[in-house]
Amino acid sequence: MSHENCLFCKIASGEIPSTKVHEDEEFLAFYDIRPAAQTHVLVIPRRHIATLSDCVESDAPLLGRMMVLAARLAEKLGCSYTGGETGFRTVINTGPGGGQEVYHLHAHLLAGPRPWLRMG
Ligand code: 5GP
Ligand code: ZN
Repeated sequence: MSHENCLFCKIASGEIPSTKVHEDEEFLAFYDIRPAAQTHVLVIPRRHIATLSDCVESDAPLLGRMMVLAARLAEKLGCSYTGGETGFRTVINTGPGGGQEVYHLHAHLLAGPRPWLRMG
């Protein structure tokens, strides 16, 4: 069930459109509407979890799979770490103190030439 009035639940259900990079039973990845870098993708679980602070021990496998998915998507998008100066950044903002704007857990996947507009 999607969480009422949650923007990313609505994106996960398709009610609000997004430019998808990946979807499976558990996760969705789509381009950030206000990209901070050349590559800026958000990876979300379909299940509504508001913040990383809400995660408990039983969420550890989901969090692990989310980070491994981010690494696979970096490969798919051509920004994986393959030596030299290559690589990407993953960021999870938590709460106002962490700069979180949307309260549905998500990992940012950022890559590309500096400077970035945010999260650089
Ligand atoms: P946060 O600040 O919560 O870590 O990141 C939320 C991100 O969601 C921001 O980078 C923002 O640009 C992105 N965002 C906000 N609304 C939408 C939307 O409707 N569609 C997409 N694709 N991204 C969004
Ligand atoms: Zn949600």
